[in-house]
Amino acid sequence: MAIARRHFLFLLGTSAGAFALDSCAKAQNAPSQNKPNPGKTGTIQLPQLPYRYEALEPHIDAATMRFHHGKHHATYIKNLNAALDKHPELKSQTVEQLLRNLNSVPEDIRRTVRNNGGGHVNHSMFWRIMKPKGGGEPTGAIASAIKQNFSNFAAFKKQFNEAGTGRFGSGWVWLVRTKDGKLAITTTANQDSPLSEGNYPIMGNDVWEHAYYLKYQNRRADYLNAWWNVLNWDEINKRLAQASKAA
Ligand code: MN
Repeated sequence: MAIARRHFLFLLGTSAGAFALDSCAKAQNAPSQNKPNPGKTGTIQLPQLPYRYEALEPHIDAATMRFHHGKHHATYIKNLNAALDKHPELKSQTVEQLLRNLNSVPEDIRRTVRNNGGGHVNHSMFWRIMKPKGGGEPTGAIASAIKQNFSNFAAFKKQFNEAGTGRFGSGWVWLVRTKDGKLAITTTANQDSPLSEGNYPIMGNDVWEHAYYLKYQNRRADYLNAWWNVLNWDEINKRLAQASKAA
């Protein structure tokens, strides 16, 4: 009995390890976002993670990252591609353009593009604004912008986390550049993108339970707090610069 059990655990360990390596290899080999796959024009691919699944430990655990990227994000892309296959003429536009003009998306796939196109664009940002050994005080232009708009980083963080905790159900908390050029903390439901409201997402945190439940269970506030330790301020500064250009 003891031997059988040990054997079982060994097998379990092996298969879990194989799964991790397999997903990681796939993630690292995946072509980057929106690059057409030869022979399958317009097919959106899962963007590769700029780090390994375990790289954000202990703040975000490897198991969460593996499912979040390898399953949740991959599913948004699969559903989005299936929808765009019904209207291939839309494939000449970027997903961001489709989200900015949801009303121009044919009605039969509009909800699918809103949910799954939003899911794809939101998560593509999310992976990139995080990095191992990140966090700390903001730097560069975003540091000044935060100071100007929220008086100091601690106040900004508090307001952002409160908005994230207060978002009922699934959604995102954002720092956006609004259409009138102001910085604001907002939230959206489900996978709705700030782009669909005319706002540019500078940074955002995913408050769906799938983003934290394995490690933090119901403690969303703890997850929101921990997330600041993995932020990539260089990337957030790039997005702040893009926000001004996109206006
Ligand atoms: Mn998510």
